[in-house]
Amino acid sequence: MFLPWTTVVGFFIGTFIGSFLNVVIYRLPRGLSLVQPPSHCPNCSHRLGMLDLVPLFSFLFSGRRCRYCRRDVSWRYLWVELITGGLWAAFWLQNLVGGPDPARFLLLAAFASVLVACIFIDIGFYVLPDSLNAWLLGLGLGYNAWLIARVSDKAWTQVGSISLPSAVAGALLGAGLFWGIALFGRVLFRKDALGHGDIKLARGIGAVLLPLVALVSFGLAVAVGAVLGAVQVVLRPRREQENEGEEEEAYEPESLGSLLRCGLGYMLAVDVAALFVPRLERWWFGAEEAEAAEDDWSPSLTTIPFGPYLAAGALVAALLEGPLVRLATDYWNWATGGL
Ligand SMILES: [Zn+2]
Repeated sequence: MFLPWTTVVGFFIGTFIGSFLNVVIYRLPRGLSLVQPPSHCPNCSHRLGMLDLVPLFSFLFSGRRCRYCRRDVSWRYLWVELITGGLWAAFWLQNLVGGPDPARFLLLAAFASVLVACIFIDIGFYVLPDSLNAWLLGLGLGYNAWLIARVSDKAWTQVGSISLPSAVAGALLGAGLFWGIALFGRVLFRKDALGHGDIKLARGIGAVLLPLVALVSFGLAVAVGAVLGAVQVVLRPRREQENEGEEEEAYEPESLGSLLRCGLGYMLAVDVAALFVPRLERWWFGAEEAEAAEDDWSPSLTTIPFGPYLAAGALVAALLEGPLVRLATDYWNWATGGL
């Protein structure tokens, strides 16, 4: 459908989207408007012109400094543009050059863009904004409606005796699985094993990737998270390890009741509805969660945001869907002796 060289076009559109994502990453967690005021240097407030807003090139040719106040610009700006461009190019190549599937290209390009924002916001602020999680769920449900209209065999998933739209099945699987892990950690270790944002993120990933591929992506996330988490704990400076004991005493995990109620709310997408009807937020999740989210919460030294791993696992699974599913199926057959 598209010639291979057009992948370059996909890459450049992706870098422009990445440039916008840099605005999202800076403004969304700070509670600022995404559109007003126009782009400006956060240090000297000088408004940025066309020359300052060309993806990749502005960063590289200005010697990674603000042209007006000479303040250093974070490498993050370049990385976000490069990664988004690369992902757009890859999905372009897969779905537009390799096969004629513009709807799937749009789904995965949008999915990847939201995940890139999630990754960098979670690394910087230890939060996953509700609006981004709602976008993921919306993308999955929207694409599912398209699959149903096209009478695709992927549109419905059989769960026991009921037939669910696949995106709904995937969302319930993702939220249910990580809600379960959070409950497990809370009951067995009296620890907050996962943030609420991770449960909502897994829900969105399940909705877009659908149950089977989502499961593979969760496996990847847990495997990579476990390895890198262990490395991070081992490499931590000794002084921080010695101070650890004092912190533990003040630690008070979330109440079980709250975790049960919130998790059920995420399964029912009450948090998404609350974006449109704000009263729902307080009614279902209570004032505590709202206040906790507003507090300047400082993470403990062992806190490792899991969101980036979930998001990265989802991106790898979306890129390598075919081979990974085959590998997982082979493994399953081998492990169960071909049941
Ligand atoms: Zn400046």
